[in-house]
Amino acid sequence: MQGSNENIKAREALSTDRSARLMQRAVKQLPGGVNSPVRAFRSVGGDPLFMQRGEGSRIFDVDGNSYVDYVMSYGPLVLGHAHPDVVATLEEMVRSGTTFGAPTELEVEMAELVCELVSSIEMVRMTNSGTEATMSAIRVARGYTGREAILKFDGNYHGHGDALLVSAGSGVATLGLPDSPGVTRGAAKDTAVLPYNDLDAVRALFEERGEEFAAVILEPVCGNMGCVLPVEGYLKGLREITQQYGTVLIFDEVMTGFRLARGGAQERYGVVPDMTCLGKIIGGGLPVGAFGGRREIMEQVAPSGPIYQAGTLSGNPLAMTAGLATLRATGESGFYERLEELGERWRRGMDEAASEGGIPFTINQVGSMVSIFFTEGPVTDFGSAAHSDTKAFKDFFWHMLGRGIYLAPSQYEAGFISFVHSEEDLNKTFEAAREWFVGAPADAGRG
Ligand SMILES: *Cc1c(COP(=O)(O)O)cnc(C)c1O
Repeated sequence: MQGSNENIKAREALSTDRSARLMQRAVKQLPGGVNSPVRAFRSVGGDPLFMQRGEGSRIFDVDGNSYVDYVMSYGPLVLGHAHPDVVATLEEMVRSGTTFGAPTELEVEMAELVCELVSSIEMVRMTNSGTEATMSAIRVARGYTGREAILKFDGNYHGHGDALLVSAGSGVATLGLPDSPGVTRGAAKDTAVLPYNDLDAVRALFEERGEEFAAVILEPVCGNMGCVLPVEGYLKGLREITQQYGTVLIFDEVMTGFRLARGGAQERYGVVPDMTCLGKIIGGGLPVGAFGGRREIMEQVAPSGPIYQAGTLSGNPLAMTAGLATLRATGESGFYERLEELGERWRRGMDEAASEGGIPFTINQVGSMVSIFFTEGPVTDFGSAAHSDTKAFKDFFWHMLGRGIYLAPSQYEAGFISFVHSEEDLNKTFEAAREWFVGAPADAGRG
């Protein structure tokens, strides 16, 4: 158990008194001490770190420790923290006011840029979060088709809207059961759930009652059960089935949009959905989402059509300006090639480091989205991801933190590499990982 003792030392080497004291205050007024559950470190135990500032690939906690950041706010910060272009444009904008409740030129520029970059999007509506984008896209698909049922996939996360907070977790097509108290059976009953990457299951369901489905929604590459890639032919197959039954195919690209390619996963895999949800990178670190798609569908949205959707702060000038600066920076020549290179370098380096130990692991990587699962693999759906030894992950997580590497505090969150992560950052990560794998507890990964 040499690894475990090492870890306790690593953990003690970090001085985190201020974070601990802030957490003591936080839990008194904030549920679980946080404003979004995964931040509370529940799945790795211990107190979360409170952050003070970020710079490039690094973040700094309130006790003055610095870390190489692979969380990157769970995806938005493809340019790293406090990118000079984003900071400059925000500073300039904020002096002119922060919201008008009237249209601005920035929103037109954003809409034009999104439609240019994501070829399946002909019209777009901005929202304030990814959750709003998926909720609204489902409403629009239902209004457009006049149907009520939707199909989602086990382990795919689409924000916390009632109809999407459903995951049957079995290999059988069932009527959805709510995942959370407070979601009514009524809200969940029209949501069918199937395992990811199983085209035959979708075919069987659609042969039985395909005409009932308004929409199929999925993460074209999953990031919310760890990084899980679509198997060959899966996305194309879904495109064919939905086309055949007149069902709206919705790609939830809140995480993958502008990350896996400038035009998102749909560009990378060459599959054209009817609607797309965006978020995260499109806001450049400010709260944003967007949904868009074929003109014929989007024209049904109010006020051009009857399907209601609105927002006091939707298209907010600060969010638009940060998002535009970010999207423009991704147009720099070699931007996505660099992200690919960093992602591949990460996979090779981690693979080498992990191979030095005797612990089963699987690395999934596509572009700058990465995951290391503590299981033999392959990891292709929620069922196989759930074979991971989360105790081993927990031990690994604390070891890495003690070595100045900030990973998401859950086995089931993807890691994000930004454009500004350096060779030095990566090498530091591999070295820390190697130490753990070489000295890890003999029973880790075997549980
Ligand atoms: C983050 C995420 C969402 C939710 O976005 P919020 O801005 O957190 O509401 C939806 N879908 C996917 C794929 C995501 O990764």
